[in-house]
Amino acid sequence: MAGMADHRDWIARDAAVVWHGFTQMAAYPDNAPVVVARAEGHHLYDPDGNRYLDAISSLWVTTLGHRVPELDAALIAQVERGAHTTLLGNGNVTTVELSEALARVVPVDDPHFLYAGDGASAVEQALKIAFQYWVNRGVAGRTTFLAFGDAYHGDTIGALSVGDGGFGTDLFDPLRFPVLRAPRFTDPDCFDRAVELIAAHASELAAVIVEPVVQGAAGMHLADPADVARLAAACREHDVLLICDEVATGFGRTGTLFASEQCGVRPDLLVLGKGLTAGYLAMSCTVASGRVYEAFLGDDLGPRTFYHGHSYSGNALAAAVALAHLEVIEARAVLANVRARSEQLRALLHDRIAPLPQVGEVRLHGLMGGVELAPPTDGLRWGRRVCAAAVARGVLLRPLGDVVVLMPPLTVTPEEITEIVHVLAEAIVEGAR
Ligand SMILES: *Cc1c(COP(=O)(O)O)cnc(C)c1O
Repeated sequence: MAGMADHRDWIARDAAVVWHGFTQMAAYPDNAPVVVARAEGHHLYDPDGNRYLDAISSLWVTTLGHRVPELDAALIAQVERGAHTTLLGNGNVTTVELSEALARVVPVDDPHFLYAGDGASAVEQALKIAFQYWVNRGVAGRTTFLAFGDAYHGDTIGALSVGDGGFGTDLFDPLRFPVLRAPRFTDPDCFDRAVELIAAHASELAAVIVEPVVQGAAGMHLADPADVARLAAACREHDVLLICDEVATGFGRTGTLFASEQCGVRPDLLVLGKGLTAGYLAMSCTVASGRVYEAFLGDDLGPRTFYHGHSYSGNALAAAVALAHLEVIEARAVLANVRARSEQLRALLHDRIAPLPQVGEVRLHGLMGGVELAPPTDGLRWGRRVCAAAVARGVLLRPLGDVVVLMPPLTVTPEEITEIVHVLAEAIVEGAR
C-alpha cells in the first residue's frame, strides 16, 4: 500500500497535539486508530483511501450516514441565512420551525424545548429544571434523584452523579452528589426495587431518571418496556417527575422514533442529543412538558425564571439540519428499515455469533446491539483486540470493555449487515488467538 505512510503520519501528528476523550493517549497510536480524511454514505476513508464501514455510527450519532444530500443542502441554505444568533432573550426562525416539528413527534404533553450542545448538558438542564420545579411550586425537600445502577448520562458533574461508576470514573466519586440508586438492569428485580424506592422516598425525590428500554453505555443492557411503564406509573402515583434520557435511543435507534413510545410513557422531561442532527452538529435538547414549563412562569426577572443557558443554544445551522433530518426520516421510511435490518441482524447474530465459544451473550434492540465476549481470563482486552481485527477488515467497531457494540447507521443495507456479522465472526476468532 503506497500511501500507508500517510495514514501513519497523520496518526503521529494527531497523537502529538490532539487529546482524545476516553482514550489513554500513551497507547493511542498503537491501538489501530483511524484518522478520517473523508466520510461518505456509510463509509469513512483514511488519508490513504482505505475504506471502513462505520458500524458504530461515529459513536452513535450518525443516523443516515455521511454526506446526505438533503442535510448538506439544508446546512448550506442556513449558512446563507446566518450561522448562529443567540436564543437568550431572542429567537431565530429556524429554531422555531425545528421546535414546531419536534413538538408534533415527541412523546411529551404540550412540549417546550430548551436547547444545549451535548447530551450531558441537556441532562444537566433536566436535573436543574426538576429541582427548581419543586422550589417554584413551594414544595420543600424535593432535592434528590433516583437513578439506576450501570446508568450513563454523560460526563459533566451532574450527569456523572446520576450516572453510576464505571469507565474509570470512580475517582470522581468525591465530586458526585448523592442519589438514590436502584439496581442495574441486569438485576431482574430492578424495577420492583425502583418502584419501592419511589414509594418510600417520594417526599425527597425531585425526579427519577432512566434510559428507557436500553442502557447503552452500560453495554447494551435491555429492559422490558412494560417495566419502564410501571416505573412511569409509580412516578405519577407518587407525584415524582420522570426524566427519560433518550440521548442514545432517540431518533429511530430502537425502531420507533423514541423508545418511550414502546413503553407507552410520556415523561415530564425528555433528553435528546446524539441523533438529533443526524450526527452533523453538536445539538441537544431538554424537552419539558407543559406542566413543568408552566411552573417557571412568573414575574419578569423574578425567582421562577430558569437561570441557565448555553452560548450556542438553538444554533441555527444545527436546527436547520435537525429539521431536514425529521423530514428525511419520514420520506425514506427509515424506521421501517431499522425494524427490518434489526430482524436480519438478530437472525445472523443468532446463527453466526451466539454459538461461538468466545461469546457470552448477544443483546439487540432495534439497531442497538452488544456482543458480550467471554474472556477466559481478565486483562486480555478481548474487546479491543476483536475490534482492531474488524478495523483491519474494513469495519469500524469500538468496544465497551468486553462488549463489542453494533450501532450501524439506521439506513444500513442488508448487504452491510451481512458484512458486519461476517467480519465480526472472523474478528472474534482472530482476537481470541
Ligand atoms: C451519550 C449519552 C449521553 C451524553 O451525551 P454527550 O453528547 O456525549 O454529552 C447521555 N445519556 C446517554 C444515554 C448517552 O448515551
